[in-house]
Amino acid sequence: MNQKTFEGYLVTEKYMLKIGFIIPSGKHNYEPFRNQPLTELYLLTIVEERLGDKVQLSMIDLRGIEERHSIYRIPENDVFLYSAATLSIDEISRIVQKLRSVYPNAKHIAGGAHINIFPEESATIFDTIVLGEGEELIVKAINDVMVSKLKPRYIQNKPVDIDIYPYPSRKFLPKTAVVDTGLLDGENTNLKGTAVVFSRGCPFNCYFCANKNLTFGPVRYRAPNLVKEEIEYLKKEYEIEALAIKDDNCIPFNKRFAKPFLEAIGQTKIKWRGQTRANGVPSDMVKLAKKAGCTDLAIGIESASPKVLKIINKQIDLDKAKDYIQFLNKTGIGVRVHFILGLPGEPDDIVKQTLNFINKANPGSVLLSLFCPMPGSEIFEDPKRFSVNLHTKNWDAYRNVFGRFDENEHPSPVFNYDEVTPFGRGMKNEEIIQNYEELQIILRDRGLNF
Ligand code: SF4
Repeated sequence: MNQKTFEGYLVTEKYMLKIGFIIPSGKHNYEPFRNQPLTELYLLTIVEERLGDKVQLSMIDLRGIEERHSIYRIPENDVFLYSAATLSIDEISRIVQKLRSVYPNAKHIAGGAHINIFPEESATIFDTIVLGEGEELIVKAINDVMVSKLKPRYIQNKPVDIDIYPYPSRKFLPKTAVVDTGLLDGENTNLKGTAVVFSRGCPFNCYFCANKNLTFGPVRYRAPNLVKEEIEYLKKEYEIEALAIKDDNCIPFNKRFAKPFLEAIGQTKIKWRGQTRANGVPSDMVKLAKKAGCTDLAIGIESASPKVLKIINKQIDLDKAKDYIQFLNKTGIGVRVHFILGLPGEPDDIVKQTLNFINKANPGSVLLSLFCPMPGSEIFEDPKRFSVNLHTKNWDAYRNVFGRFDENEHPSPVFNYDEVTPFGRGMKNEEIIQNYEELQIILRDRGLNF
């Protein structure tokens, strides 16, 4: 208990631990506010549910603020929390350093993708790191702060049951940062929308993707009644009419899960977009998704070269993917395809092959990125196998140029290929960038990118 004077009387005030969850600037994102801080909201919600009036919680949202100014927005707290990805770890590390000089007594606790991949490096930055799924660990760590017994590491070895936790309360953000328009395309573009995630994990192992190291266990979808409950909350509190479902596979592959899951979404009458694989989604489930409000689906094709698809273990067939896209078009679901240029084994005529695929499949839009070997992925872990030479561990430089082409922003890969690779000639970085820019210009002229 703290004691202080109030209007001449000595009063006793119950001390509440002040906890601020810091969201970094998101400068690597073209539109940082499109990336809802769902993990941060979710963890704050759990802490509030478990620790109630012992804590005073806030979200310190630095998105969109230039990094050199962001420190001025951070009030004093007893504990600062972070969910660190590779793209944000350098910025977070600089924030921690600055905060240590201004608020020397504050504790810094971090979890997230990057922390789990590089625990030793991370342990030198933060007071405490949280390894594995963080729901229980974060509560334990904060409880330990209260009794001055904070440990340097907390580890969760077993996957958690995601159904026992509440959906993320959005109350830690202003409404303006929750609700957005333009999430859906065409006639639905003005609907008020927000982002959600209802599952964890992906059963595949594409070698360029860090997912397998980040999801700590089997694929899990939230129970349909909980999915429905979260959507009804968003409708009631925020008048949400549209959702961007951020799950890796928004239509579960197993029909036993997919049917009640999609039916639950359908009962809410919400419109939504999501992403699926180009294969393995049963056509009756696609039709059910449409009936349940699905307007747009994104599909990771990644490369129009079958050779590249094999090297990156994508496990899709381009002809079937084209048929699937055409089927979605017929079903009335808009399609965005994702391609990555610069993947291992890319042929010299990749621009032509990509355009051929686009012409045949006829997607509504294309998101084109440049390959970057992200920590956690097979290619990052074993670069020699793919003839990849990594230039730097300056994590700020690890960014794909996410689907945009701006004359002022020239991509600069963090790696190069050997001249000779097991997959043929290694493409030079200048060639990769030239292909990328050429394709972006063609897509822009056709109104396909954004
Ligand atoms: S790229 Fe997509 S399908 Fe492949 S492992 Fe990652 S999330 Fe799964």
